[in-house]
Amino acid sequence: MHIVIFGPQGAGKGTQSARISEKFGIPSIATGDIFRWAIRSETELGKKVAEYVEGGTLVPDELTISVVQERLEKEPNGWILDGFPRNTGQADALGAFLAAKGEQVDAALMIEVPEEVSLRRITARRICSNCGKLYSLANPPSVDWTCDNCGGEVIERQDDSQKESVLQRLRTYHELTEPLKAYYAERGLLREINGEGSTDEVFARILAAL
Ligand code: AMP
Repeated sequence: MHIVIFGPQGAGKGTQSARISEKFGIPSIATGDIFRWAIRSETELGKKVAEYVEGGTLVPDELTISVVQERLEKEPNGWILDGFPRNTGQADALGAFLAAKGEQVDAALMIEVPEEVSLRRITARRICSNCGKLYSLANPPSVDWTCDNCGGEVIERQDDSQKESVLQRLRTYHELTEPLKAYYAERGLLREINGEGSTDEVFARILAAL
């Protein structure tokens, strides 16, 4: 199973990807997590992508595509991709990568929420700085901002704490990522999901759409 998930910041992609991953026994691969991990670990990749991730603009396609392809090569049994593709060029690259193996994207989930919901959720979002598990002010870890999963420190994302970066990412979403709606609709793969409501409600809509 090959699923891609996209939607504006705060739509719930990461949370729903984790649910899908658990339900179908496939890994959830998030480009944002890969980049944040690289920055935190001060790897060569981290040095190359820091200015883009911190400023809220897209990492150049050539670099992003090669990072994703290298990761997908290790996952022959399917995956859900969270945050990739982010534009139609990346979608073409993903399609070509899969076609070379006689495979294809099976479904493209577009999670839709109004902008005020996006902004509210981004403000409340918290993340484990070690494993990437997601929390929020309303759904904190059980002990003192320490990750339930790995004991890492749960923090606010650097790019979520800066208003200009949040607005930049939403602009980038509308300009570059939203065209994926038409791209996957033309291929009969688009599944539009209302992202408002509880995590359980949204997940039930996703299961019905798959
Ligand atoms: P995310 O965690 O998906 O919100 O991504 C955080 C940041 O990582 C984005 O603002 C971009 O700078 C970068 N990023 C993540 N995925 C991609 C992608 N597919 N293409 C380019 N940049 C990306």
